[in-house]
Amino acid sequence: RAKASGTNEICFYDISMDRQARERNALAMEMREGLERGEFELVYQQQNNAKSGEVIGFEALLRWNHPSRGRVPPCDFIPIAEKNGFIMKLGEWVLREACREASTWRRPLRLAVNVAPQQLAKGNLPRLVEEVLADSGLAPQRLELEITESGIIADQQNALQIIRQLKALGVKVAMDDYGTGYSSLSTLQLFPFDKIKIDRAFIDQVATNRQSAAIVHSTLILAASLDIPVLAEGVESAEQIEFLIGAGCERVQGFYYGKPLSRAQLDACIGLPLPPAFEARPGEDGSC
Ligand code: C2E
Ligand code: MG
Ligand code: MG
Ligand code: MG
Repeated sequence: RAKASGTNEICFYDISMDRQARERNALAMEMREGLERGEFELVYQQQNNAKSGEVIGFEALLRWNHPSRGRVPPCDFIPIAEKNGFIMKLGEWVLREACREASTWRRPLRLAVNVAPQQLAKGNLPRLVEEVLADSGLAPQRLELEITESGIIADQQNALQIIRQLKALGVKVAMDDYGTGYSSLSTLQLFPFDKIKIDRAFIDQVATNRQSAAIVHSTLILAASLDIPVLAEGVESAEQIEFLIGAGCERVQGFYYGKPLSRAQLDACIGLPLPPAFEARPGEDGSC
């Protein structure tokens, strides 16, 4: 199609593709150096009891503080890391760092950590998790690994075995981004998830759109009959919370309760005595 529309366009097209590829390569190389130079950081978003608002846990979310590009969001570098395999190393760093930090939280709240499809498919995730738990001293039942459907469809038998091994360690396993995969229902039937996280896409319009409301409603009914707890992601308004409580959803996570927090903000949020020089400063938004 580009060919038919003229030389200039071909040329432009090629350059831009080339530029994109080079940009990806540059990021891929910088990622390796960045990890060694300590440019990666975890921030933590609280998860709350829908009715009381009480904090029940935190999800670790990866950030890259790039020296010249500034803060690179995960959607810009995780797909690259997944493509070139670096996600294995990065994911291991996330797991170690998150467990190490959570073991020093003032309160023994749950820690949710995202696991990329490759981490489940390759390597030995159960052994890594076991080792990280031993090194950090984090109680296994405090750790919840978030897995997306794309992480389990490639090789279902293998994924099932890995999930069973993880659960045998006492670790919880959650299905992340529920509803965005193509066979969420059968996935639920096959895999012994401890929690379902309904994707933000359905929560966005849950209070205003009948289709979203119907999907969320039926997911909650299904999960209740399967005895699986549900958490709604991306809750931003009181109307959404009201709807979710009415529909029987007991856990929420979203900007309504707070944006992801730096470690210092998390400490302040869960009541660690502040170091003398500490001053409350806004992070990604600062609310807690
Ligand atoms: P996720 O695991 O579904 O994480 C939730 C994402 O939704 C986070 O984006 C969070 O900041 C955002 N979010 C939470 N509440 C709200 C809300 O009320 N409104 C809106 N608009 N957004 C909200 P983030 O941190 O940019 O992460 C995006 C995705 O990147 C994550 O989606 C996850 O798939 C991936 N990711 C992040 N950290 C890691 C990691 O350590 N390892 C792996 N493998 N993936 C990660
Ligand atoms: Mg997640
Ligand atoms: Mg999610
Ligand atoms: Mg997501």
